[in-house]
Amino acid sequence: MCGIVGYIGNQNSVPILIEGLKRLEYRGYDSAGVASINLGKSDLIKVKGKVSALEEKVKHEQLQGNIGIGHTRWATHGAPNETNAHPHFNSDKTLYLIHNGIIENYSVLKTALISKGYNFNSETDSEVLVHLIDSFIKKGNDLFNSVRYSLNEVEGAYGICVIYSDEPDKIIVAKKGSPLVIGIGDGENYIASDVNALIAYTSQIVYLEDDEIAVVYKDKFQARSISDEEIVKEVHEVKIALEEISKGGYQHYMLKEIMEQPESVRNSMRGRLLYEDGISKLGGLEGFDNRIAYSRRIVISACGTSWHAGLVGEYMLEQYAGIPVEVDYASEFRYRNPVIQPDDTMIFISQSGETADTLAAMKEAKRKGALVLGVCNVVGSSIARESTAGVYIHAGPEIGVASTKAFTSQLVVLSLITLLAARKRNLSLIDGKKIIEEIDSLPDKIARILKINDQIEHIAEKFVDAKNFLYLGRGYNFPVALEGALKLKEISYIHAEGYPAAEMKHGPIALIDENMPTVVIAPKDSVYDKVLSNIEEVKARKGKVIAIANEDDDQIDKLVDHVIKVPQTIRMLMPILTVIPLQLLAYHIAVKKGLNVDQPRNLAKSVTVE
Ligand code: GLU
Repeated sequence: MCGIVGYIGNQNSVPILIEGLKRLEYRGYDSAGVASINLGKSDLIKVKGKVSALEEKVKHEQLQGNIGIGHTRWATHGAPNETNAHPHFNSDKTLYLIHNGIIENYSVLKTALISKGYNFNSETDSEVLVHLIDSFIKKGNDLFNSVRYSLNEVEGAYGICVIYSDEPDKIIVAKKGSPLVIGIGDGENYIASDVNALIAYTSQIVYLEDDEIAVVYKDKFQARSISDEEIVKEVHEVKIALEEISKGGYQHYMLKEIMEQPESVRNSMRGRLLYEDGISKLGGLEGFDNRIAYSRRIVISACGTSWHAGLVGEYMLEQYAGIPVEVDYASEFRYRNPVIQPDDTMIFISQSGETADTLAAMKEAKRKGALVLGVCNVVGSSIARESTAGVYIHAGPEIGVASTKAFTSQLVVLSLITLLAARKRNLSLIDGKKIIEEIDSLPDKIARILKINDQIEHIAEKFVDAKNFLYLGRGYNFPVALEGALKLKEISYIHAEGYPAAEMKHGPIALIDENMPTVVIAPKDSVYDKVLSNIEEVKARKGKVIAIANEDDDQIDKLVDHVIKVPQTIRMLMPILTVIPLQLLAYHIAVKKGLNVDQPRNLAKSVTVE
């Protein structure tokens, strides 16, 4: 999920690797490392924390070599510490590997390797790859074939770079699901997970495709398919100005993270959908499946955006699993005397896994004997460590203070927990399969919505001067209304309120006039007609309406002032689509107001105070 760089040529690779890693820092990471081969001898240096710390250590220990690989890690398996940082190595310290992505079947592979006598240093999924490759080398294969055979045994996503001091003239690279490019120089070649790391050195770029594996020498490269057919690769001329590359070419982290959602949502479901059985597989909940499915009650507790995700989770679990669900603010839960019984399950949701109120609420629930689950993004975080079981959302690092991709990934994970519990109870195989199909189609549908970014920016222009906003939605889209209003408040400082659409007539309708825009989330579902009536009520009072509707809905166009269309999906998953235009709307309004979108005033990314 984070960064890879590689160099082979006549220069010392280490400063080039460090420079490349610095250009990937915008992606966010928790640790970094480099390995190089010098005159047949190899060595590595790793640090927890910043590339600048790695740079210091490298200077101090005088690491150098003409072949090298460098990595920034964003932990998915195992805490962010020096041992778990990449490169990983074999026991002889002759073979070094860096990996971006997730090896889904790592635990089966690890058990098999341990039984053959392999020792593991780290808790990562990645380390299995280096020992697996080593096991093929020990059987007499060369490096290329050893990597190829190993990858044939691997399930999951990877971008990898491997160096071996017994074959010090090459770097082997391969990719599936994670990006990887080769940069062509003059008597030297480069590798990176992102072109941005290379543009200071070369504009000649080769894009590796999934299931391709390449041997990179200093003066040539050869690409083959994983099943060993030759592949002819085209070299592309890529022109990017150095100043364009921070934040991956986006003006803000928030926009970058909104745009990443097809990928982050895919990562949240990767390896977790069992099509044939119409059920999800969540490794972190193993052994607790039945306990969860037969809970007397589920209580979800969280703060802010995660609390909104929890509200959607309530609708999901009640509709499909038939388990009573309550959603509670962590700050309220911890200071009440909440009634918790031993057959209750509690789910605590936090992007950072460090939210102070959520952590305290979790400790209290544990004391009261509930089964305590964590749903977090940051691996090894306090909530992840304190929970009895849990699920990582794998959204990748989120740097913008206003949460976007973490929200959609939290919803994916909640839908997977729902599917698990529902299939254990009453949901049929056919219905389970249908849900899986719909979950699987989300990344493409999100990509479709992101294509109308310009249209949303246009609409945003018209509302820059608004002082107040109202967001309305029903059912699954009521929490989306809350989340849309929160996004706008957080970054544009415009007062906004989210309401269940039917509640409007019990108060907020008094506010409506021509200066009060209302955003209505109105997909074609069972409450569509009711929402249309709410729109009529706003229009009757001269309110301006921006509607989020389905692509095949022509009826709504003439009723409202602006429509943003999103693809259709089942009700449970609709919030994952309808929230995206609301993220973009808030973003563009804030940018047009000239505000600091990534670090809005008075807010912190990880709220570690109560
Ligand atoms: N899954 C690997 C780990 O946790 C790689 C993470 C990454 O892509 O940075 O170490």
